[in-house]
Formats: sequence, C-alpha cells, structure tokens
Amino acid sequence: MSHRPTRVLVLNSGSSSVKYQLLDMRDSSRLAVGLVERIGEQTSRLKHTCLGSGDTREAVGPIADHDAALKAVAEELGRDGLGLDSPELAAIGHRVVHGGMFFTEPTVIDDAVLAEIERLIPVAPLHNPANLTGIRTAQALRPDLPQVAVFDTAFHTTMPESAARYAIDPRIADRYRIRRYGFHGTSHAYVSRATARLLGKTPEEVNVIVLHLGNGASASAVQGGRCVDTSMGLTPLEGLVMGTRSGDLDPAVIFHLARVGEMSMDEIDTLLNKRSGLFGLCGDNDMREIRRRIDEGDEEAELAFDIYIHRLKKYIGAYCAVLGRVDAVAFTAGVGENAAPVREAAVAGLEGLGLAVDPGLNAVRGDEPRLISPAGARVAVAVVPTDEELEIATQTYALVGTGSAPVGNNS
Ligand code: AMP
Repeated sequence: MSHRPTRVLVLNSGSSSVKYQLLDMRDSSRLAVGLVERIGEQTSRLKHTCLGSGDTREAVGPIADHDAALKAVAEELGRDGLGLDSPELAAIGHRVVHGGMFFTEPTVIDDAVLAEIERLIPVAPLHNPANLTGIRTAQALRPDLPQVAVFDTAFHTTMPESAARYAIDPRIADRYRIRRYGFHGTSHAYVSRATARLLGKTPEEVNVIVLHLGNGASASAVQGGRCVDTSMGLTPLEGLVMGTRSGDLDPAVIFHLARVGEMSMDEIDTLLNKRSGLFGLCGDNDMREIRRRIDEGDEEAELAFDIYIHRLKKYIGAYCAVLGRVDAVAFTAGVGENAAPVREAAVAGLEGLGLAVDPGLNAVRGDEPRLISPAGARVAVAVVPTDEELEIATQTYALVGTGSAPVGNNS
C-alpha cells in the first residue's frame, strides 16, 4: 500500500478574507470547504463545512489578522480529523494573483519566489500583499510542507507580443513593467480544457472563446490549449463591463477627470474600480437584481444591461477574428453559469459568425458542463462551470504529489 500523501489544501487569501478547500487528489473530492471573512474587524466570520459528515459550523467574533484566521481554519480542520499536521497532507496550494512575466507555471515557493511576488506588488497593490501574508502564515504553521503558488496570470503568458504589448514606447513599458498580463487564468485554463472534453476533443484540437463572467469578468481566446489574447490587461480593470469596474474606456477620460473634474488619482482609481461597471451605471452589480428591475420596466437597469452585452459582443467578435476558426464559446462564473438572458443576448444576431443558442437548452440549469447551441451548430455554445480551487489543487499536486508533472495540461 502506498503512503504517499494525497491531500491538498487550497488557500485563496484576499485582503480581508481567506477562502479554503481541502481536497483528496485520488479522486479530486472535497473533504472540507470554508471561508473566513471580515478579518481585522470585530465581526469576523468563519464558516466551515466538512463534506464527509455534512457538518457546517459558523462562528462570528474578532479575528485579528491572517495569522489568527489560518490558525482558526487549522483548528476547524483538526476538529474534523483533517488537521494541518496530518501526514496525509501533500502540499498547500496558494492562489497568487500577479506573477508578472516571470512565473509561467505553478511554482514551489522558496525565498526567491517570495521576493519576486513581493517585487510585483506595484502592479498588484491590492492582491499580492494579501497572497504573501497567506503564504507566510501557512509556512509558519507547516514549515516542512511544500507550498505552491498558482498564478492568475500564468495561463496568459503564452500571449504573443502583438497581443500583450500596449502601443506605447517599449522603453517606458519595460521600465515600469507595463504590458497586458491578464487574470482569471486558472479559470480560463480549466474551462477551456473542460470545453474541449465536452466536445470529445483534446485541448490541442480546439479553439475556444472563454467568457468568465463573475463580479469580475474577462474573456480569453484560447487556440489549441494556449491563450492568445485576453481582455484584462496590466490590471483587472481593462476589458469587459464588470460588477463595479468600468472595463475599457478612453484613457483620456482619466486626464479629463483629473484636469476638469479636479479629482485626485486615488479618487479616479476608486471611481473606475469600485463605483463603475453595472453598479456605476444603475446602482446594482448583481445580475439577478438587474434582471428583476428590467422585468419591472426599469430603464436605467435595462441600459446598464445593454451596455454590458454590447461590450461582451464586441469581444466575442474580436476573438472570432483573433482565432480565425472558433469551435466553441464557453460561458462560466456566477453570471455566465446562471444568467440565461445574458447568454441569449450575448450571441443574439451572431448567426453570421455561426453562433446561436437554443432557448430550451439555455433555460436548463445544472452543475455539469453542457451545450446550449442547437444541434448541428457550426460553433458550439456551452455553459461550463469553473472550478478554480480544483484547478489550483490539480496543478499543485501535479508539481509535488507525483514528483514530476507537466503543468497546464493535466486535467
Ligand atoms: P462570481 O464572481 O463568479 O462569484 O459571480 C458573482 C456574480 O454572479 C453575482 O454578482 C451575480 O451578478 C451573478 N449571479 C450569481 N447567481 C446568479 C443567478 N442565479 N442569476 C444571475 N446572476 C447570478
């Protein structure tokens, strides 16, 4: 009998939250899932579910910092016999948002890796510091255990320079590391491969447009398993209309707001990242609420929806041109998986590009990947639920669990 440890703990550390999942990689099953939120406040909340017993425990009370949060998580896992001290634990996989150009693959974390993630803070000021804190805390708890960083940007490092570069002086771009990095990479990687599987093909055989439509949203063009373009750029602000982010706009809007509107850079940053998108347009960023308002005849909500869809359509069209031949368009994340009206509107009128949605199939709800295009359609349209935690665990385990592993084509 083999005693190779098979469990992977996945940690996604945000600025005031930690999401976690413990998986058994023998069958990719989840053993426990949970979330600590409002870290640093009096009303921090820990919600933990043990999938084996079905028990869910919730606690509200002050959790001062990430160190205390991870200790509380370790304690909860321990109560279920799944503690961090278990010899079954093979590794901890960390979501790291920005890996720059340096990290093209999941990487076992050492001091040099930590230093590089730290060097990237100027291009990811909100995310990388929280990711680093999560890693350091986990290292302190289990210094002997391999810790792996899985980068949101890694899947996009295959983009050609023509897609990754902005049309600015390359000396300035290089000095300040300005280029299009892209984000949501683990989701785009997972969904593009799952879409190939749904079509009964290998990732190498298909060209897929992935539409990750959550509160943050991004599109990618994936050619034979490699990302060739994506809608987010230097930061997650570029591209599609999102829950609270504007996505694309004329950069001169910023000069105008500074010079004429006399707004500070911080105010403009907050405006475009936190008070724009669907929320800025109509005061709601939840697609369910927007659809409800539209059903009641609310014109502001309808215009917000139309702007959202118009941008989405432009990216679908653009990526049809980038790819030349498209085999599938895959909708994923909170909006993409659940909002049938968004899927219907996004491909309406694109029959000329071979795209159509069957209303009956589009209305079916479910957790499994499924086709929603009519039988015999030239381009498959699919709903493919994303699973970033499983992707992080798979990539982590591929790196440490088997001792050797090509990364990025392992599921
Ligand atoms: P995510 O960032 O992937 O968790 O997606 C969150 C977003 O998904 C929410 O802000 C909602 O806009 C959207 N969403 C979740 N469930 C539904 C649903 N049943 N119908 C429409 N939109 C939904």
